[in-house]
Amino acid sequence: MKEMKFETKVIHVGGEPDPVTGAIMPPIFQTSTYVQSSPGEHKGYEYTRSHNPTRTRLQECLAATENAKHCFVTASGLAASTLIMHMLPKGSKILCGDDVYGGTYRLFSKVFPEIHQFKFVDTTNVTAFEAEIAAFKPTLVWLETPTNPLLKISDIAAISALAKKHGALTVVDNTFMSPYFQNPLDQGADIVLHSMTKFINGHSDVVGGALMFNSDEIRDKIFFYQNAIGPCQSPFDSWLVLRGLKTLAVRMKQHEQNALKIAAYLERHAKVDRVVYPGLKSHPQHELAKKQMKGFGGMITFFLKGGIEESRRFLENVHLFALAESLGGVESLVDHPAIMTHASIPKEVREGLGIYDNLIRLSVGIEDGDDLIRDLETAFAKV
Ligand SMILES: *Cc1c(COP(=O)(O)O)cnc(C)c1O
Repeated sequence: MKEMKFETKVIHVGGEPDPVTGAIMPPIFQTSTYVQSSPGEHKGYEYTRSHNPTRTRLQECLAATENAKHCFVTASGLAASTLIMHMLPKGSKILCGDDVYGGTYRLFSKVFPEIHQFKFVDTTNVTAFEAEIAAFKPTLVWLETPTNPLLKISDIAAISALAKKHGALTVVDNTFMSPYFQNPLDQGADIVLHSMTKFINGHSDVVGGALMFNSDEIRDKIFFYQNAIGPCQSPFDSWLVLRGLKTLAVRMKQHEQNALKIAAYLERHAKVDRVVYPGLKSHPQHELAKKQMKGFGGMITFFLKGGIEESRRFLENVHLFALAESLGGVESLVDHPAIMTHASIPKEVREGLGIYDNLIRLSVGIEDGDDLIRDLETAFAKV
């Protein structure tokens, strides 16, 4: 499997024709239960909360994309994060990046503080991080790289090695890069998390999450909690993601090609104060991005000249870019984090992180890049 290239894996792993009928596309096993020939004698499937053949195919394919031994898919990205929290012994310490997805921040600051202890720190400076890890002695380190929405990049290999040295596990939320552009397990991380809702499914029609890892011990724990708590993904949604996954490589190439073009356009624009995109030389961690990522992805953040009024006018005048939360779909989306995705973070905390009222986030789709630029230009003209 390791010899197969990414483009081949997404088509063929978990994509074998149906052995019973020869159907080239896998059937959707829309069933809750399975017949047993004698009590306790079955074909490995008893009940769909625990196992389902459509889900198994998706998990096999996803594991291959991250060069992982195991994969579990869940009903949402946050359900996957929740399983990790339950897997840890009560009272664990989690050292978490300070610019993580808003929902992750809410989960860790509002739901789990009764069970675990959390500290949010800057993970982009390895030296400062080393002091934090030595002082806090975490059970688990939680990284999101690049972060949302500021696209700050953390050194996965260096931080995973430090965590290992101090006996902590490392989780990397790899949603923004997708397995096509970044493989954290290959760089020493213990668990990779994806919101499949985004690039992996890519068609904005499913909410789902995935965890990939190599440890059998983690597999046993995650399976226990997945089955005991029940946030499994439905057979139909698993099938849709399996279908979306087949085009991940071609989609990511187009997302990136468009994003490079748009980032360069924005950087030249008179009404733009600053552009953040890992593929730009102006990105403070452009070199690290080139080292640990195979591409720069489809997410761009920029600061418009002005404030909330200018932002509002811009957002009301884009047409191809739909004003919506979420990201990673074939269609382009635009988001205003301060009002939309990151509203759950208090204003002072938000601004402390650099999420100001003039920050706009683009999820660049796979449409024609010049059409997208024309759409942005129309909106800028109205500001
Ligand atoms: C969307 C997202 C999540 C949460 O996933 P859901 O599928 O919405 O539950 C986690 N991390 C990142 C980076 C995300 O963008």
